[in-house]
Amino acid sequence: MIIILFGAPGVGKGTQAQILADELGIAHISTGDAFRAAIQGQTEVGLIAKRYVDAGDLVPDDVTARIVEEAMIKPDCQNGVILDGFPRTRAQADALATMLSRIGQEISCVVNIEVPNEHIVQRLLSRGRADDTVEVINNRLAVYQQETAPLLEYYSKLGLLKHLDGVGSVEEVSQRILAIVSQPS
Ligand code: ADP
Repeated sequence: MIIILFGAPGVGKGTQAQILADELGIAHISTGDAFRAAIQGQTEVGLIAKRYVDAGDLVPDDVTARIVEEAMIKPDCQNGVILDGFPRTRAQADALATMLSRIGQEISCVVNIEVPNEHIVQRLLSRGRADDTVEVINNRLAVYQQETAPLLEYYSKLGLLKHLDGVGSVEEVSQRILAIVSQPS
């Protein structure tokens, strides 16, 4: 089972991905967490990623696809994976399709978590991460619109897209997601 949690920065993908992974007994891959860990550990990837993450720009596709591929071949991914924050560009979506066909897997569904922009900025500002300043948040939202939102049409055409109202308590939203991913497609 391969589930993609999709949505703008701050819609709650990370929180929901963790709950869903625990609930379904599958792995959670967050590219944002992976980059933050790499930056913290000053690895080769971290040294490349830092300036992009700090500015709210996308880390180059080849670097991003490589960390996802490394994570996906680990044994804990055998039962399935929730992808949180990947893919964010068409090139990443293509890289994912190639990776999955190589291991004989398919995307089960793409859940688009929808939250109005005014909620998003408030949520992000209250989180207080280093890249959660007004300027960097605005850039992340702009990058999302430009690079990532077009993937909605791509996955919709593949018949994989499900829409989800992301406004509500953490529990309410996770119940909605569980209901959606349990539906037969
Ligand atoms: P948010 O969704 O709130 O922006 P993330 O933790 O998902 O937070 O991402 C933080 C940063 O990590 C992004 O602004 C970007 O620099 C980098 N990043 C995460 N995922 C990707 C990706 N798929 N491609 C390129 N860069 C990414």
